[in-house]
Amino acid sequence: MRLGALEAGGTKMVCSIGDETGKILDRATFPTLSPAETIPPMIEYFQKAGVEALGISSFGPLDLNPASPTYGYVTTTPKPGWGYCPLLPEFQKALGVPVGIDTDVGGAALAEFQMGAAKGLANCVYVTVGTGIGAGVVAEGRLLHGMVHPEWGHMLLRAHPEDPTPRGFCPYHDGCLEGLACGPAIDKRWGAPSRELPHDHIAWEIESYYLAQLCVTALVTISTEKIVLGGGIMQEKFLFPMIREKTLKLLNGYVAADQVLNHIDDVIVPPGLGIHSGVTGALILAAKAARK
Ligand code: ZN
Repeated sequence: MRLGALEAGGTKMVCSIGDETGKILDRATFPTLSPAETIPPMIEYFQKAGVEALGISSFGPLDLNPASPTYGYVTTTPKPGWGYCPLLPEFQKALGVPVGIDTDVGGAALAEFQMGAAKGLANCVYVTVGTGIGAGVVAEGRLLHGMVHPEWGHMLLRAHPEDPTPRGFCPYHDGCLEGLACGPAIDKRWGAPSRELPHDHIAWEIESYYLAQLCVTALVTISTEKIVLGGGIMQEKFLFPMIREKTLKLLNGYVAADQVLNHIDDVIVPPGLGIHSGVTGALILAAKAARK
């Protein structure tokens, strides 16, 4: 099947043509300007490619309630022009093919669940740690939406005693995960780009402490089987052992599962699909929409 995949991001839109196995045949990137400037060229791209269905994995928040009159809309984003943008309806109307939509992290979680690090399991969490922090949750084999969709980036954390900016930088909350641990938060805290900070800098001790709290929460709340950590910051592979060690320390032996106690390396992992979780997720959303 010829499927379209749109990874809608705050700075760029990545459009791909592929199939339900995750194979990519073509790709084009468009800068994210206003909806009126950005959406028509993408529609033209997918029309020319003759896609039979489209999957959108998008920055949020999104309305993902199929019964809602604003289903498939971007909702309360502060991004100029995109507030209450009818993203899904625009593509559905112009292309006349089935269109599926979820959050960018929801799509990536689905991809890791079906084809990546969590293949064969029933539960996983995909977290992106980059410009922002977000998570997609698969629970008992289904992508979890609930009332809206999970917003794990805004879970409240315990501050590291040596954090010089323990309130973080989220405009909405004091001490939330995104405000404390996203890429721009690290840059602001230390006044230098994170990639320039040496591995033994206290910045990483603090960063891994916050990400370990996220892992603890994932284990004690939804008892997930796999925590997949992706995004730009997690390209720093030395963070993984630090996060695993702190997770075990914070849990203090309480979650008595063999996987946690003896195989934490296999619980907290990088994406099995590498940098392709996003596009694979969008293709899965397209295939799901086509099947409906
Ligand atoms: Zn927040």
